[in-house]
Amino acid sequence: MALKESRLDPARASFDRVVESGCGFSHDVLRGQTLRIVDLEGNQAVDTLFYDRLERTNRYSAVDTIREQGNVYLTTGTRLFSTEGDVLLTIVADTCGRHDTLGGACAAESNQVRYAIEKKFMHNCRDTFLLEIAEHLAPMTKRDIPANINFFMNVPLTPEGGLMFDDGVSAPGRYVELLAERDVTVLISNCPQLNNPCNAYNPTPVRILVWDA
Ligand SMILES: [Zn+2]
Repeated sequence: MALKESRLDPARASFDRVVESGCGFSHDVLRGQTLRIVDLEGNQAVDTLFYDRLERTNRYSAVDTIREQGNVYLTTGTRLFSTEGDVLLTIVADTCGRHDTLGGACAAESNQVRYAIEKKFMHNCRDTFLLEIAEHLAPMTKRDIPANINFFMNVPLTPEGGLMFDDGVSAPGRYVELLAERDVTVLISNCPQLNNPCNAYNPTPVRILVWDA
């Protein structure tokens, strides 16, 4: 945990939008700009991916990020590495303290395996990602959706090496803030999951802010 507050004033943000649960979102964040994601009501899971804006095959790499920092959890100071070894963004403030990048995005398949066969048709993050890229980020396809970050989601690693989806550690108003180290595109699925205690079975909206350099 590396709790750190930001001094940036929301009134001075150049971009400010609420993203409802179950919705996708994509936006370009330019080098030097700061992106903040606010967990408005607490314990939401914000499935997030980052891409080099000009070369989207150069994208967030969970494996490289974990290896470079020697830690599976993301927090203040974490540099988010790309598949080409570039630093896409750095987490510069964090009032939640811990974010997951191992649990992956919920999907029709995982809903069946984790919960029940009839959950296959429930709304899920992978479908939201696919819809968002089809509508706004052509010519990206499903091969461009790699392992993602789950901001605010609590996925503790057990001593045996297993993963648990656990009660959240976030709370209303907590946020994470990232400085763009190059021009990036952010892709978000604000998770609609109704079967997972990580969000108290209650998906809620988040707020996205961007400040200019
Ligand atoms: Zn999800």
